[in-house]
Amino acid sequence: MEIVSVAVPGPWWTDLSYTHGYPLPPGIRVRIPLGASSRVGLTAVAEEPENSVRPDDIKEIIDVIDRLPPLPDELWRTICWFAKTWFIGKGMAAKALLPVPFLAGEPLEEVCPGPRTGSSSVRYVYEPRDSDRMAVYRDILTASEAPLLALFPELSAAKKFWDMLPAPVKEEGVLWPDLSKGKQWDFWKRSRKGEIRFAVGCQTASFIPISGLSTIIVDEENSGAWKTQKHPLFHHRSVLAARAGFAKADLVLGGRMPSAKVFLQIGRDNVRSRIRDRLIFVDMRDASSYSSDGIKDRLPISRPLIRETRNSLEKGRWVFWILDRKGYAGEIFCEDCGSPVRCPKCGGVMRWEDKTGRLRCLDCGSVEPVPEKCPTCGGPFLEGQRPGLEALEKHARSLFGRDGIILFSDDGTKIPSAASIMKNYPEAGIILGTRKILSLTDDISPGTVGWIDADAEARVEEYDAKARAFSLMWESAWRGESPDSRKIVIQSRRPEKNWQQTLGIGWGHFWERELQERMEWELPPFVPMLKIDIPAFKRKQLAEDLEQAGFDYWESEDRSDTIWVRTKKFDALRKTIAPYFDIKNTRSGIPRITIKLD
Ligand SMILES: [Zn+2]
Ligand SMILES: [Zn+2]
Repeated sequence: MEIVSVAVPGPWWTDLSYTHGYPLPPGIRVRIPLGASSRVGLTAVAEEPENSVRPDDIKEIIDVIDRLPPLPDELWRTICWFAKTWFIGKGMAAKALLPVPFLAGEPLEEVCPGPRTGSSSVRYVYEPRDSDRMAVYRDILTASEAPLLALFPELSAAKKFWDMLPAPVKEEGVLWPDLSKGKQWDFWKRSRKGEIRFAVGCQTASFIPISGLSTIIVDEENSGAWKTQKHPLFHHRSVLAARAGFAKADLVLGGRMPSAKVFLQIGRDNVRSRIRDRLIFVDMRDASSYSSDGIKDRLPISRPLIRETRNSLEKGRWVFWILDRKGYAGEIFCEDCGSPVRCPKCGGVMRWEDKTGRLRCLDCGSVEPVPEKCPTCGGPFLEGQRPGLEALEKHARSLFGRDGIILFSDDGTKIPSAASIMKNYPEAGIILGTRKILSLTDDISPGTVGWIDADAEARVEEYDAKARAFSLMWESAWRGESPDSRKIVIQSRRPEKNWQQTLGIGWGHFWERELQERMEWELPPFVPMLKIDIPAFKRKQLAEDLEQAGFDYWESEDRSDTIWVRTKKFDALRKTIAPYFDIKNTRSGIPRITIKLD
C-alpha cells in the first residue's frame, strides 16, 4: 500500500494522508472519506510526511476519478504557487480558481496536452483612451493563431472588446460572461480539449484550462475590480502574471494607468496624456455652498461646477456628480451636549436616511426612527452632519429643475442599466451617486464629472487611499467614448495638495511622489503587509511566536482578533504560523490571512 497526500478544500494547510494500491501523480482528483462523509480532493506532493500518523490508522482512497492529471501542468503549478504565496491550503486554492463541477468530481475526458515550448515576455499597454488600448489588444489577438485569454475587470468592457472583433475571428473564440453557469462548465471542458482558441471575459474566465495558452491580456490591471470580495482575498493580476510565467505565455498588461508594482518596472517614460486643460480645481473654502434642513454643514456646489453642468446639459450631454456619502446626512448630533446618536443595539455610527425618515446603523444595519430628543441628555435639538447624496439631490433639483436628475443611492440596490437610463431620459441629465456610477461611463460618456468632496475620497485611513482616489479621478477623465471633450471639476478644501495637483500632469508624477513616501515608510509595494485574523484567545500566543521569530508586527487596537505583520520573508513566516493552520485547529478556529502586496 502506498501513502498518498490529498489536498481537500478547507481553511487548514494540512494535506491529508490516505492509502492506495499504487502511487498517484500529483494533481489527480480522488474521492476520500472525511469524517462521516466523502469529499473530492487533489493528490499532492507531501511536503513533510505526517510523522504522527501510522499507516494502520490511515483510511483508503474511495475512488480515483482521473487517470491522468486533468489540468494543464501550468494551471496546476499556478494553483500550488497561489496556495503557498497567499497562505492558504492547496484545496482552497483550487476551489478559488476552478469551477464547482470540477471539485464535485464531474467526469472529464482524457486529454494529453504536450508541454509548450517558447518563452514568456511582458508587454505594457498604457493608453488612457479605452478605444486605443482595445485596438492594440485586437491586433494582438488577430495577428496570432495561438490560444489566448483577453481579460477585462468589468463585463461592459469585455463586451465592448468582443464587439470590436471581426465576425470570422469571433467564431474561433467565446465571450465568456454571456454564458450561463451550465454553459460555462461546458465551455471550460471544451477549452481544455483545444476546441476554443480564445476567450474574452472577466474574473470568471481567468483560470480556464485553455489548451496551449500562449498569451494573457489583463486590461486595467490597476483596477480594484480585480480583487476578490470574499476569502481568499487576492488580486487576479498577481495570480495571472504567475500563470503566464508557468505557461511560458506572453503577458500583456494594460490600463489607463499602471499599478504601483508595474510603475516600478516601467517608470514614467510612458506617460503621454495630460488632462490639465480640462481639469478645474475649486477651493471649497471660497465656493458657494448650500444648506440643507436640519444639517449643520453646507454642501459645496461651486459656480464652475454649475457652469460646466449647464454647458453640458445645453449640449445634450450627461453630467455625473460623485459624492461618496450615502443617505441624507452622515450622522446626527445633539446641539446641547454634542453626543452623536448611536445605534441602540451595537453602539455603531447611525446614518440619517431621508427617504425613510430613519437612522441606519453602519455596523449592524439596524434601522431606528429619528429620536425626538437626545438619548444622552434629553436635549430637544438634534442636527445632522456631513450632508450626503439625498441632500445633494434636493439641491440639484432646485438648481436644475425637477426632470432629469437621477439618484443612485447605493443602498444595496443595483445601478440602473445605461440602456434604461437613456430610454427614460432621452434628453440627458445629471446622475448623482457614489463612485460606483463611474461604470456607467462605458455607455454614457458624460460631458462633465463633478467630484463634490474630493478630499473625502481619500480620507479613509489606509495607506493606499490616495492612490485609489487618484486612479478613480483619472478614470473619470478617461473612461468611456471620446473623453477628450469631458471636463472634470474637483471641489476640494486643499486643492494644492500634492496628489490632486498631479492629476493635471499625469500618473507618472503621482506615483513618483507616492512611492517615495511609501518607500520611506516601508509600505507596500516595498514591504508587503499581512493582516492575520485569528480567534481572540489565540492572539497573545501568536504575538509571542512572531516576537520570538523576530517579525515586525503589531496588534490591532480596534479589533482583538487581528494582528498585522510587515515582512518580505514569506517562507519564514509560513514556518512560524504553520501550527495555527493545522487541521487539528478546526474546532478552535483557523486564522485567515489577507495580503497587501501593492
Ligand atoms: Zn444631548
Ligand atoms: Zn448597530
